[in-house]
Amino acid sequence: MARVGNWQIGRDMSYWYPESRPQRQFAAVFDINKCIACQTCTLACKTTWTSGKGQEYMLWNNVESKPYGFYPLAWDVKLLDRLGPQKWEGGRYEGRTIFEAAGSGERVLGWRPEEIDYAHPNVGEDDCAGEIETGAHYSGMHQAWFYYLARICNHCTYPACLASCPRGSIYKRPEDGIVLLDQERCRGYQECVKACPYKKVFYNPMTGTSEKCIACYPKVEQQLQPQCFVNCIGKIRLAGWINRPHEARPENPVDYLVHVRKLALPLFPQFGLEPNIYYIPPVHVPLPYLRQMFGPGVDAAVAAYRRAGSDPDLAGLLSLFGSSEQMMPRWKRIGDAVLGLSEDNREVCRVPFREPKRVLPMIDPKSGAYRTNIP
Ligand code: SF4
Ligand code: SF4
Repeated sequence: MARVGNWQIGRDMSYWYPESRPQRQFAAVFDINKCIACQTCTLACKTTWTSGKGQEYMLWNNVESKPYGFYPLAWDVKLLDRLGPQKWEGGRYEGRTIFEAAGSGERVLGWRPEEIDYAHPNVGEDDCAGEIETGAHYSGMHQAWFYYLARICNHCTYPACLASCPRGSIYKRPEDGIVLLDQERCRGYQECVKACPYKKVFYNPMTGTSEKCIACYPKVEQQLQPQCFVNCIGKIRLAGWINRPHEARPENPVDYLVHVRKLALPLFPQFGLEPNIYYIPPVHVPLPYLRQMFGPGVDAAVAAYRRAGSDPDLAGLLSLFGSSEQMMPRWKRIGDAVLGLSEDNREVCRVPFREPKRVLPMIDPKSGAYRTNIP
């Protein structure tokens, strides 16, 4: 095994191939606080990519209610259990990654779901955890919290799917870091299904090969955001590019949110894959739960998000989410508006902090009709 640098766990770790970073890395930020579990993203992906035979059960994008929702069943808790103690010392992970914890003869610590584990994609939907004694309108016990976790392939820097494939069928594109699976080479061994800790590779029994999220690369190649991003009703998503912490550029929105403001965090960084979808954690959830899921940066991220309302840069940048189909690799704030910019600094879109207000007369002068929604 090679020794590679993983900034998300604050140390080097063992991986099956030497460190080889792409020219630039596709990445995204999801603001969990805004997701309403409408599943529009799920359907946008489904109708675009997985409506064929053998793909019926596949959800390259899924949204699950945490803590009791999973797709497939128990995908995270099963692996967390197998991985054993996951201890952090400050920003350094002292436990073992799934590469370091693999048994002899294995490349990755993993497990393969049964068919039945995919049977209930909405299991646990809206199930709450925790209890509070009283509420304003109810004197019994109130259930306290849950949140929605939207998930796609993380296009990991150190993909477990790639490491596990005995055929070398999975590759990471040097031009954008998107992880793809070559179905011509695949022989359906399903080692990738077993290895991916996020369970984002799916086996197609009709073709005998595995398939996975492709980050809508034909769109990304045209500087457009993927389907699940542009269709997001809650405007929770922003696609872009990420650098390592020491290369971070504040004018890059993903770098700014992840590295400069430390507001967006990776999902289960302790697994060791350096995943590239970053989450702004939900602010109403108990911190110990969030620390396990997003690592030790959660406390600072939650505090920063709570202050965002009085922080024009942060509030402005968050309003850029979902504002254009085009990718916006740069941004800046001018007064009370935030601008999304192209790589060569062209304005892609401009979002005012407050929508301009226009008061219409009660009677439409053209038709003479009353506007009934005007008080
Ligand atoms: Fe591979 Fe899973 Fe990482 Fe996607 S999330 S790159 S499928 S290991
Ligand atoms: Fe959440 Fe957006 Fe998906 Fe709706 S479309 S479930 S708001 S991520």
